[in-house]
Amino acid sequence: RTVFFNGQFIPEGEAKVSIFDRGYLFADAVYEVVSVLDRKLIDFAGHMGRLARSLAEMSMPPTYHDEQWLELLRALIDRNNLNEGLIYLQISRGNPGDRSFYWPSAETAPTILAFTQNMALLDNPAASAGLSVVTLPDLRWGRADIKTTQLLYASMMKMEAKAAGADDAWLERDGLITEGTSQNAHIVNSEGVLLSHQLDRNILHGITRAAMLSLAGGMNIRYEQRAFTVAEAETAREAFVTSASTFVMPVTSINGKAIGGGKPGPVAGELRRAYIDWAMDNAV
Ligand code: PMP
Repeated sequence: RTVFFNGQFIPEGEAKVSIFDRGYLFADAVYEVVSVLDRKLIDFAGHMGRLARSLAEMSMPPTYHDEQWLELLRALIDRNNLNEGLIYLQISRGNPGDRSFYWPSAETAPTILAFTQNMALLDNPAASAGLSVVTLPDLRWGRADIKTTQLLYASMMKMEAKAAGADDAWLERDGLITEGTSQNAHIVNSEGVLLSHQLDRNILHGITRAAMLSLAGGMNIRYEQRAFTVAEAETAREAFVTSASTFVMPVTSINGKAIGGGKPGPVAGELRRAYIDWAMDNAV
């Protein structure tokens, strides 16, 4: 693969990060994952908006303008002949040349990285089979809204879910589901209302979630942005997750209890189709 690293397009094996890079020592870095369909970027503006917000919340200066990002990510897609898959981009606070908790002065340049991952996104067997999830405690820090590379807890919970025989975990704080380990979590409750956790510091403000809710509004699907309990999830009519890599993906089992008779629900199905159509129509 060719990767983008600190202003250059180079073979992946030639990209070298200092042992003192704050991304390496402190997970002092933010990232984005943007999906690519038909060689085009999905919801690019949404991801750029969140990247700017993450940088601002971390008091990191902006890097490239959106148009510059677009140009370089397109070049990366071309160089790697990426038809369908993901682009990962990351900005760390850089290498101050030593280890210190305090942030370095403004002269320390950020470490900027982007690479592609070839992946079938549309043709995902989970879209017709549905995912199984188990609920596990949300013990992450209180700023889940900032997309940092501090992903150890999410990684641990994915491993625990896998060990329990499930596809993934939904995280629970004070009896309420916050989100999945790497997706936002949604249900259609017993009254037929779509419930999605409100935007606060306990969840990542998913780009796919935002687009999905806006499409739901246009499709006259009733929704409320509020947290739901584990019990509400287990007795829901439908459940699904959203993320850049899975789009809208049905969940058919929560804590071993079948959701919607163990089959993907109609609302999730309609929203998946609507999202993919919208995403492809607006890809750049
Ligand atoms: N929540 C978490 C914790 C995530 O890691 C992700 C994906 N990175 C999401 C939600 C989904 O966000 P998006 O739709 O922007 O991919």
